[in-house]
Amino acid sequence: MPAPLTLSARAQALKPSLTLTIAAKARQLRVEGHDICSLSAGEPDFDTPAFIRQAAEAALEAGHTRYGPVAGEPGLRQAIAAKLERENGVSLGFDQVLVTNGGKQALYNLFQVLLDPGDEVLLPSPYWLSYPEMAHLAGASVQLLPSEAESGFRLDPAHLEAAITQASRLLVLNSPSNPTGMVMTRQEMEAVAEVLRRHPRVAVVCDEIYEFLTAPGHQHHCFAAVAPDLADRVFLVNGFAKGWAMTGWRLGWLAGPKHVVAAASALQSQSTSNVCSFAQFGGLAAIEAPRDCVRAMAVQFDERRALLSERLMAIEGIKLRPPEGAFYAFPDVSRWGIDSMTLCSRLLDEVGLAVVPGVAFGDDRCIRLSCAAAPAAIEDGIDRLSRFLTGL
Ligand code: PMP
Ligand code: GLU
Repeated sequence: MPAPLTLSARAQALKPSLTLTIAAKARQLRVEGHDICSLSAGEPDFDTPAFIRQAAEAALEAGHTRYGPVAGEPGLRQAIAAKLERENGVSLGFDQVLVTNGGKQALYNLFQVLLDPGDEVLLPSPYWLSYPEMAHLAGASVQLLPSEAESGFRLDPAHLEAAITQASRLLVLNSPSNPTGMVMTRQEMEAVAEVLRRHPRVAVVCDEIYEFLTAPGHQHHCFAAVAPDLADRVFLVNGFAKGWAMTGWRLGWLAGPKHVVAAASALQSQSTSNVCSFAQFGGLAAIEAPRDCVRAMAVQFDERRALLSERLMAIEGIKLRPPEGAFYAFPDVSRWGIDSMTLCSRLLDEVGLAVVPGVAFGDDRCIRLSCAAAPAAIEDGIDRLSRFLTGL
């Protein structure tokens, strides 16, 4: 028997996305006939608005079925630059925008072209679970910046400053945050910018994928507009998945300093080429249209987020500060003394509730529940959680 192929060290070290794994497992169990309530995936349950689908269909019929420019359709890159100017107050040329296969590829490409082995990524924790893996795939290590539930998981600028070393290359800001729902205030961004001004080697990437999903009373601020003097080292990542309910389209963007965006485009030219040609025309229709459909969905997420937090906070022993944005709640369930992985697997096995263990996001005291689900599913999920916890 020939020896089995060994995987590269990179592949051996890689953890597959647990959010996607759990969502897929919940789907599979349902197909097999089990009674499953899934509050796991960070995926809007709405269909992509019709005018966006129609624009892609028209592009398909019009023959946009061939290779296109690697960096994206020029019209879409222009429209993204115009959106950034109009909506976010950031002035960038269209050649500073790269259309990517979701926000994920924007982040992946950026990490690949900016980071070398030995570099450190500064990562506020809890964090979205793909950032550390992407850093490791680039050979970099991760310096966590832990935050506490009691303080609303806020990034402490003094803590950031103390964590910066000669090796620090890139700070990741994700506001609104997955999984905590924390939304950075303008003052908090200014304080971070003040720290970065003292450390010119440190770049920052702002993952703004939940830009449109802020709870009433909270507002999304774009770091690039708050600190325009740092433009030579600020990167913006965003996409269509959450705001426009376009997760499956795989459409996102990276924007920032031209030479880095060009390098990310070169990487794309040797890996995936252009994003699906006709999908880009759906994105173009979406981004150029008024935000009515985005707002209508955001309002529903507001109601669901409020429902999820109220119901969670009513469970004796759960600690939660209501999320300020995105579509997750990240309650502290440590009172029951079960590690989050065991707790989530028991929830799935014993009451058919799929949620994501906090350990995947760097906090084993918590679990993540998504409210990107119908209100009835949220109610059902909380009933199951409550039944399970009170039975312990
Ligand atoms: N960033 C964050 C914080 C996310 O939660 C996600 C998950 N969808 C992404 C980026 C990537 O989104 P996509 O690749 O679907 O655009
Ligand atoms: N970002 C979403 C989540 O956190 C989708 C899954 C993923 O891309 O990992 O659930």
